[in-house]
Amino acid sequence: MPQVQTSAASTAIGTIPSKGYAAGAASAQLAPWNFERRAPGPHDVQIDIRYCGICHTDLHFLRNDWGISVYPMVPGHEIVGVVTHVGDHVHKFKEGDLVGVGCMVESCRVCDSCNNGEQQYCHNGMTLTYNGAEKGTGNITYGGYSNNIVVNEDFVLRVSEKLPLEAVAPLLCAGITTYSPMRRFKIGKGDKVAVLGLGGLGHMAVKFAASFGADVTVLSSSSHKEADAKRLGAHNFVVTTNEEQVKKVAKKFDYIIDTVSSKHNDNFYLEMLKSKGTLICLGVPAEPRELHWYPLQFQGRVVVGSIIGGIAETQEMLDYCAANNITADIELIAMRDIHQAYDRMEKSDVKYRFVIDMATL
Ligand code: NAP
Ligand code: ZN
Ligand code: ZN
Repeated sequence: MPQVQTSAASTAIGTIPSKGYAAGAASAQLAPWNFERRAPGPHDVQIDIRYCGICHTDLHFLRNDWGISVYPMVPGHEIVGVVTHVGDHVHKFKEGDLVGVGCMVESCRVCDSCNNGEQQYCHNGMTLTYNGAEKGTGNITYGGYSNNIVVNEDFVLRVSEKLPLEAVAPLLCAGITTYSPMRRFKIGKGDKVAVLGLGGLGHMAVKFAASFGADVTVLSSSSHKEADAKRLGAHNFVVTTNEEQVKKVAKKFDYIIDTVSSKHNDNFYLEMLKSKGTLICLGVPAEPRELHWYPLQFQGRVVVGSIIGGIAETQEMLDYCAANNITADIELIAMRDIHQAYDRMEKSDVKYRFVIDMATL
């Protein structure tokens, strides 16, 4: 059994006690950890966390895949829960409200991106929900694998009571990450869209693309996922190791939504785009991408990146999901089963998002 540790900071006025699961180093496993968060200030909302989704980003961060990780780390940025306390100046929320928190908890609020409502592209850097530095204090932020969180009300989302709360959690990252670029490119009827990788992001991409009226193809390395892909709303399924199937989709798609988490050959997939088709890069493998000029320039294709979405757009996505009855397909797990969930995620065996039941913490 892992030892319960306590953070160096003492419980004092100005903090609240929290408990969660943390990793002490890139090589360490997650284990129970007691720590403090800032007590809610006048503009803050305190949330009792009910469920938290497990994103592949959590694994990248834990392993320090990108060389930017800070430990101890409490991952988790697909958070849903209930408001237990609001600061004196909070106007949008009250005790008992169902709410969500995604990948960011603050931004500079003055740059062009923030002024455009695209806090995720803040020129001064958004504050990540975990592994971020709080503005002002520089304190490291801790995420949703925990019993509570304190967040400025402007970064808290309203969650509908109509949908099962545990299946809403993944919308806070996997949902908005796939919704946002589809809205940006106005993907809909008449578009041929391929979703590359059927995991957490991929299955949400399929649901949204189908809901927006596009013709949807899943490009998967796992042949056994075909029935699930179709059930989720895909019209076609291609096994990317099957040469015959791959040949048939040459120059076929207007968009490819790439959600693959590990190194893969972009040039191979570029050939599946029509002239001037767009590869939307959502996955964040540890290794840099290697684009060849030929498949890119000779067909005038476009490669674009995208990360989560702004706060207003995240609310729009949650409202769209409530109106259209869209949630994630999840496997609900106990906190102690996190290690098996990570093992399965590494083997591309996710159906299609693990969500932690925080009552088991
Ligand atoms: P996930 O649930 O583990 O799904 C990834 C899927 O990619 C797998 O299920 C698998 O699907 C496919 N895959 C994995 N390795 C592959 C390989 N070597 N070649 C081909 N396909 C492979 O992960 P996720 O949570 O959806 O996250 C996916 C990626 O997006 C991660 O890198 C994550 O950090 C990133 N991400 C980015 C944002 C953003 O804002 N841009 C937000 C969240 C996450 P098949 O079995 O169908 O092949
Ligand atoms: Zn995520
Ligand atoms: Zn900004």
